[in-house]
Amino acid sequence: MCGVFGIANHPEAANLTYLGLHALQHRGQESAGVVSSEGGTLHAVRKMGLVADVFSADLLRSLHGAVAVGHVRYSTAGGSLPKNIQPLTAEYRHGAVALAHNGNLVNAEALRDSLERDGAIFASNSDTEVILQLMARCPQPTLTGRFAWALSHVKGAYSLVMTSEDRLVAARDPFGFRPLILGRLRSSPRSYVVASETCAFDLIEAEAIRDVEPGEILTIEGETLRSERIPSEPKRFCVFEHVYFARPDSRINGQGVYELRLRMGSVLAREAPVDNADMVIPVPDSGVVAALGYARAADIPFEMGLIRNHYVGRTFIEPKDSIRHFGVKLKLNPVPGLLDGKKVVVVDDSIVRGTTSRKIVKMIREAGAAEVHVRISSPPVIRPCFYGIDTPTRGELIANSHSPAEIARYITADSVAYLSPEGLAEAVHGGAGGFCTACFTGDYPVPFEPPAQRRQLRLVEL
Ligand code: AMP
Repeated sequence: MCGVFGIANHPEAANLTYLGLHALQHRGQESAGVVSSEGGTLHAVRKMGLVADVFSADLLRSLHGAVAVGHVRYSTAGGSLPKNIQPLTAEYRHGAVALAHNGNLVNAEALRDSLERDGAIFASNSDTEVILQLMARCPQPTLTGRFAWALSHVKGAYSLVMTSEDRLVAARDPFGFRPLILGRLRSSPRSYVVASETCAFDLIEAEAIRDVEPGEILTIEGETLRSERIPSEPKRFCVFEHVYFARPDSRINGQGVYELRLRMGSVLAREAPVDNADMVIPVPDSGVVAALGYARAADIPFEMGLIRNHYVGRTFIEPKDSIRHFGVKLKLNPVPGLLDGKKVVVVDDSIVRGTTSRKIVKMIREAGAAEVHVRISSPPVIRPCFYGIDTPTRGELIANSHSPAEIARYITADSVAYLSPEGLAEAVHGGAGGFCTACFTGDYPVPFEPPAQRRQLRLVEL
């Protein structure tokens, strides 16, 4: 998963993009990049790491220009390698271009095969690069024309921001899988901004104007904004953004994520009650809001039974056998005494492989809990996502092959219950249009096109 940000017509474009990326950090922690445009010349800073580690004041000062685009990355297509850090940049006969992508193209491999047969040389192994390659081959005279032509060839999920020719261009795929919102700075209303989530606008004091519509291409040049359309499809916004991915303080498709998660929790409490429970505790941070909704609806005390260490990045220390559950202990720790002898309801947003939940349940039991009942604020994840969320293959998804009772045995919980698909639909009450629920139902709006042969990674730069 990834986050994108773009701004036009502002003397501090790069600084504001840097701040916007901070607010989008939860969408990707592997790498970050900002590319600014000054008279069509691009300036780029891209590195592996968190936003705070990638940029220095000196580097930001060197990102000149009134237009900038930025990206935080969590790889779903292409490895976690420096050559895949976004925004991707290229030079072609119309100048330099920088492109940042949230989503996943389902036909990128097939397109790449045919482009390579035609002589194309690829600099990355990111699916996003096919869009640049297609633009370079397009005979259209305008930037937006070339972009629209390239997008007419790709299938799948994309929320894109691009800069070239001193313009900011933003586009969303015809189904609108991933979020993308248009706003403007309060202090400088002639400066348009686009971002994956509104929490990025709050930080830079921008107001949201509206969603970039599915199938819409926005071109912003100076203070003028032009909207064009590629044919759209029935809207299929990713419901997992509401369940897990988006920040609860964001508004997406006109709906507050916090409010929806509270409702998921309260519907879950109705569907899967636990009699005589002493407390509801969330798995922080992903389960907090749904747990609050559950506790309120069930009238059970809400406690922060697990405390999260927010400063844990990736650890390179291998756990010794003597330190059990090391990985999860780094991140979570139970409050001493609180859980002793208690019947506890633990709420999280999802179970993927089941490995984290197993460690968490063990930790809660070791802290003295008498009973542990796990409640999940979404339906079982039974299929992988092809549209930009990093879910493992079908075989690794525990709910694909195990019932809630079997999962309870595996994670050593007294019971496990999920929100039903109908309950989730009720909680998001139809939303502003339809949802993609492929990970819960297997109903894929766009089929994934597997490559004829799995491509080998041939150039590994560390
Ligand atoms: P697991 O041990 O695989 O069952 O992990 C479940 C945990 O991973 C839950 O706490 C979720 O909040 C979290 N989670 C769900 N989807 C993702 C994802 N795509 N990337 C990272 N974490 C996730």
